[in-house]
Amino acid sequence: MISVDQALQKIMARLSECRPTECMLSNSVGHILAEDVQSDIDSPPYDKSLVDGYAVLAEDVKQDVVLEVLEEVLAGQTPTKSIHPKAAIQIMTGAPLPPDASAVVMVEQTSRDQQKVIIHQDTIQPEANIMRQATSLSQGETILSQGTLIRPIEVGILAEIGCTNVPVYQPPKLAIISTGDELVQATTTPQAGQIRNSNGPLLQALATSFGAEAQSLGIGLDNFETLSDLVATGLESDILILSGGVSAGVKDLVPAVLDRHGVEQVFHKLKLKPGKPLWFGVLSSADRQTMVFGLPGNPVSSLVCFLLFVAPVIFRMRGKTSECLQETTACLTADFQQRGDRPTYFPAQLTERNGNRYVTPLAWKGSADQRTLSEANALAFFKAGNQLYPNGEEISVFKIPS
Ligand code: AMP
Ligand code: MG
Repeated sequence: MISVDQALQKIMARLSECRPTECMLSNSVGHILAEDVQSDIDSPPYDKSLVDGYAVLAEDVKQDVVLEVLEEVLAGQTPTKSIHPKAAIQIMTGAPLPPDASAVVMVEQTSRDQQKVIIHQDTIQPEANIMRQATSLSQGETILSQGTLIRPIEVGILAEIGCTNVPVYQPPKLAIISTGDELVQATTTPQAGQIRNSNGPLLQALATSFGAEAQSLGIGLDNFETLSDLVATGLESDILILSGGVSAGVKDLVPAVLDRHGVEQVFHKLKLKPGKPLWFGVLSSADRQTMVFGLPGNPVSSLVCFLLFVAPVIFRMRGKTSECLQETTACLTADFQQRGDRPTYFPAQLTERNGNRYVTPLAWKGSADQRTLSEANALAFFKAGNQLYPNGEEISVFKIPS
């Protein structure tokens, strides 16, 4: 069996390409820029005043000096006069500066007497309260680079430079099939032998939270033909996730159904707890491909496999280069006995106190125990092999993004 790292390498070696597209500025938050973006304007577009006050020649400013007010310029207007010695132009914040003005005295430092203004400060530095044309942005300059994550702040910048159709990477389309004769929809009360399909909603929510366009294709019964029909639809997506049906049970039909559709198996099973039965393959044609993940049916195994293997694929296809699971270290708050020959990613609670990080593996009752997961915000990592990790030992922890 291959290791987690080998599995990840094999998956990344088959990664589908990022696809550039355009989206409306109002929908762009969370996307990654697919191209450098240039400004089509200077900002400010002209020399402007940063305050409400009087544009002056800096050398005229002295305590109690009286200057003649030539005109008043509001934001949105342009000055018609230029400053000459012993003159001032009243100006509002953001309005264009009159030619020759070398400073703006704040209105709070003045008093007004009809067409005269009296200055109440000793001196002023040239350029005080002035922002010169193009000091923030200049026309043709690259303002945001390819690979930038668009946050609300970037939306404001893009609006300023007139980029309303934003070049971004297209989020991958992802389909989910939950397999199992025992499954009923979450809206139904399970009858004897039945359980609710929790993986479908869990995986859809996870995929959406990592930025995929996720769609649930519902429950696929453990019947070759009906499962095959659903898989045919799922293979139209960039990523197809199946949950259940990849272990060694007689009704574990997923690998055979995928084989029937020509999906090439890249690996099946790996050294991982929980998640050993993971299946991964690719369906390729000349112009497109579908990456197919058969996740184990147990909800906790499904979650761990999704976080370790599917989330990074979604990230890369969206153009993101950051890691989706942030690794850190923390001190155990209790002894932990690791057993077996598979590395374990154990649901755990990570807390921080006085600048120190602590990790508490939860009282997890096996990979079907979803309830315990609600207390988890991390996966505690333990290497393969029988080993007692004592209370206080520092271990690796992967944060589950919230
Ligand atoms: P399987 O991998 O199909 O053998 O399923 C393993 C275990 O996970 C079984 O106990 C299933 O009932 C459970 N399981 C499978 N699919 C789901 C699902 N969609 N939601 C919740 N539990 C599931
Ligand atoms: Mg099953």
